[in-house]
Amino acid sequence: MTRIGGTWQNWARTEQVRPQRVEYPATIEAVRRSVRAAAARGLAVKAVGAGHSFTGIAVAPGVLLELADLSGLIAVDRERAQVRLLAGTRLHRIPALLAPYGLAMQNLGDIDRQSISGAVSTGTHGTGERFGGIATQLVGAVLVTADGELLRICADENPELLPAVAVGLGALGILVEVTLQCVPAFVLSALERPEPLDEIIGDLPARAAAADHFEFYWFPHTDVALTKTNARLPADAATAPLSPGRRLVDDVVIGNGVHQAVCSLGRAVPPLVPTVNRLSAKVWGDRTFSDASHRVFATSRGVRFREMEYAVPVERLADAFRDMQRVIDEHDWRIEFPVEVRMAAGDDLWMSTAHGRATGYIAVHRYWRADPHVYFAAVEEVMLAHEGRPHWGKMHTLDADALRPRYPHFDDFVALRDRLDPQRVFRNPYLGRVLGD
Ligand SMILES: Cc1cc2nc3c(=O)[nH]c(=O)nc-3n(C[C@H](O)[C@H](O)[C@H](O)COP(=O)(O)OP(=O)(O)OC[C@H]3O[C@@H](n4cnc5c(N)ncnc54)[C@H](O)[C@@H]3O)c2cc1C
Repeated sequence: MTRIGGTWQNWARTEQVRPQRVEYPATIEAVRRSVRAAAARGLAVKAVGAGHSFTGIAVAPGVLLELADLSGLIAVDRERAQVRLLAGTRLHRIPALLAPYGLAMQNLGDIDRQSISGAVSTGTHGTGERFGGIATQLVGAVLVTADGELLRICADENPELLPAVAVGLGALGILVEVTLQCVPAFVLSALERPEPLDEIIGDLPARAAAADHFEFYWFPHTDVALTKTNARLPADAATAPLSPGRRLVDDVVIGNGVHQAVCSLGRAVPPLVPTVNRLSAKVWGDRTFSDASHRVFATSRGVRFREMEYAVPVERLADAFRDMQRVIDEHDWRIEFPVEVRMAAGDDLWMSTAHGRATGYIAVHRYWRADPHVYFAAVEEVMLAHEGRPHWGKMHTLDADALRPRYPHFDDFVALRDRLDPQRVFRNPYLGRVLGD
């Protein structure tokens, strides 16, 4: 998140707002005071994390609560491998907090800049058909509700609320504390290489089943994709990390620097995009390494982009991908950013994109200076025809009427919101659209 002269804007530069107040509570009591004061003045309150959502979900026109100072480890239950964290803790800080206890987060997404609360609230996920999104790691939470009271949720108190609060969209209250179920620390071995797209799609279920974590990036206008296959190994397995020099070259120079140049070039000379994409597929991949899990899961994303991601039932993933590919081929677009395909286990969280079904994810991107709307709209139509559910933190056009039939517990979630926040203290325009105020 950045601010220019009092204006908040998100990472992708798709959303901007000038909040009436910005507050930096560093204690749970201070959050309660902020919420009470805002409610008394009739102002809306919104906690923001790292501003990494592409949608307006974190936009705070009233009081913006910046929780970066409400960060750190509160307690560890070694026996259960559970940790209590303050809600503003950034994901990239968590590995160092867990390391002394030999613990790790079970799975992560592509980056680790987000706050833990922002990540769970929007259903952030990684890949791996046996693993759920980050919110499935939540076993407890403490919320400040609209009246400034604390609502504790754990196995002994209000456990029935956990499936609603875990992916809470920031609509039910301010998370001040989260409890995560961790796993023993582990090593990940990574195999990354360019492969023919047809082979990958033809073999998708088998590949996903054979690997702990499988994903691929397809470069539009080419017949190749970069596959990433990660295997989980015990913490004491020998590692072969990327050297700092190789990491610099791969992630910073090739992954970000060259890609930045490619995107600028593609914008200036669109006919070059297919050739450049073919080249990118070759230089991006082809490496094996192993390291502590968080260093393999998370990469750096130095090139700014816009993204839309849809979740479809995993058995429809290949068809949805093929239909999307056909739409791209039918148009004369020049798409300079890869399409990312991942999988996750089904879960029982009410607003999770993987609710009740094993899930495949298809994410489309565009360089931030390119207009994504026509491309995203066409892909969105394809995904909706495959029972798609949009990621809450990534661009989409759906409203409450379109979302309700896609979530069996949609009305239960709205009813809980009515109970916990009848005056809509935690409102913003995005929530109004997707939840139907
Ligand atoms: C470069 C990049 C890579 C990404 N990679 C992935 C990926 O691999 N997988 C994936 O699924 N998503 C990914 N995303 C999307 C991202 O993970 C989500 O949008 C996530 O919500 C961002 O976290 P944040 O901390 O920035 O939250 P924000 O965007 O700041 O906020 C998101 C929501 O959380 C709420 N919130 C934040 N803190 C609190 C709190 N304390 N209490 C209550 N509500 C709160 C906000 O009010 C808002 O509703 C990526 C985004 C970017 C920009």
